[in-house]
Amino acid sequence: MAAKILDGKEVAAVVRADVKRRVDALRESRGVQPGLAAILVGEDPASIVYVRNKRRACEKVGIRSWLFELPSATPEENLLNVIDELNAEPEVHGILVQLPLPDHIDTRHVIERIAPKKDVDGFHPENYGLLASGRPRFVPCTPLGIQRILEHYEIPTSGKHVVIVGRSNLVGKPLGLLLLQRGKYADATVTICHSRTANLGAITRTADILVAAVGRPKLVTRDMVQPGSVVIDVGINRVDGQLVGDVDFPSVSEIAAAITPVPGGVGPMTVAMLLHNTVVAAERSVAKGE
Ligand code: NAD
Repeated sequence: MAAKILDGKEVAAVVRADVKRRVDALRESRGVQPGLAAILVGEDPASIVYVRNKRRACEKVGIRSWLFELPSATPEENLLNVIDELNAEPEVHGILVQLPLPDHIDTRHVIERIAPKKDVDGFHPENYGLLASGRPRFVPCTPLGIQRILEHYEIPTSGKHVVIVGRSNLVGKPLGLLLLQRGKYADATVTICHSRTANLGAITRTADILVAAVGRPKLVTRDMVQPGSVVIDVGINRVDGQLVGDVDFPSVSEIAAAITPVPGGVGPMTVAMLLHNTVVAAERSVAKGE
């Protein structure tokens, strides 16, 4: 039987509607408009598209957005100064630095400069540490979006074996930490696999929920998937002008119980959760009278 399609566009629309309600409520009750400042260094075409999409998504839900475009030769110190100014600006509730940055800039310095309470991407070590210690504040958007898909489709995770392929700091590792939390749509038994994992297929076949976050088309083939499991495909790869994920969708969707497509699965959730984190940042700043 063909797998149920987990429709990220549909779930993202639900998230956006919730964000819009909260944006309206903040404006009406407190006269505050949530604001997101995006910083783009250089002219990487993919980054330009990503930032444009994020800003458009902000506008649609009533979040104010600013774009700071810096030339690729910008010295690190100048970028850090822009972040300092945004940290001090009360109308800016969230700060987003589009990655990757040019090679001469140390990404860690930049992320660590963002005020943790404005770090809506959830990459600052303080927010990472809070997630790891079971008190999440801002969770990176892609893992949060994956959890939201599971919640929307009422796919239980408690006691389930979640196998994540990919250990990046942006996706694989924080997703593992998120699903290890106590609580609903968490409480999972998590295994994280990576490029040095031996017998990958033997491990992925034991997954109740299998997440592929590698960036390699067709890495996950039918023989690596337990029939009846849930498959979440995070990968974004361009093959012959088409976007494909990391999972061999045609064959895996024949045996999985449910699967996210690419495009239209995890991708739309990432932007939706950025909006969510931004409105949360604004709500917290209002609550604290900052
Ligand atoms: P990354 O390159 O930082 O990490 C890739 C991970 O895959 C590494 O941990 C590596 O150990 C592992 N890996 C590499 N080869 C492997 C192999 N043969 N077997 C097992 N593991 C292997 O990438 P990332 O930033 O985590 O992104 C992963 C993919 O997800 C990319 O395609 C990226 O474009 C996509 N992505 C999608 C979204 C979205 O919104 N849908 C968001 C972020 C990233």
